[in-house]
Amino acid sequence: MLLKSSKINEFRLWGLLLTMGGMLVMIIGLAGVVFDWGTIGRIIAGIFLIIGLISMLGSMAIYFWAGMMSTSAVALDCPECGKRTKMIGKTDRCMFCKTILTVDPAMASEQADTDDTVNEPDTKEATQDTPRN
Ligand SMILES: [Zn+2]
Repeated sequence: MLLKSSKINEFRLWGLLLTMGGMLVMIIGLAGVVFDWGTIGRIIAGIFLIIGLISMLGSMAIYFWAGMMSTSAVALDCPECGKRTKMIGKTDRCMFCKTILTVDPAMASEQADTDDTVNEPDTKEATQDTPRN
């Protein structure tokens, strides 16, 4: 993870950045055609358009992937800020307070043992992974 954010938020961000970047690159590439730079201009335009297209296809793939993962996301109330968040996989960050949450008891820190609810089928175990400063 490059950013300290929840996975869903991070995928959204990267999808957005890639779409914007791809569009920007394609617009820059069009300059090669608009300003009539001859063959070189056309080659540059072609390269930029391909880069932009790949970037936008990549963002589509990310959105698709994020959508697929969201279906298996677990909704739970964050034990830190009390807001309802979604987590993907066994470990993810809260969307709001960025606390690392996990459903894996092996990865949970010791301080989580105080409110351990492993045998409760109704409650998802969400524990804090890092000690707060
Ligand atoms: Zn939270």
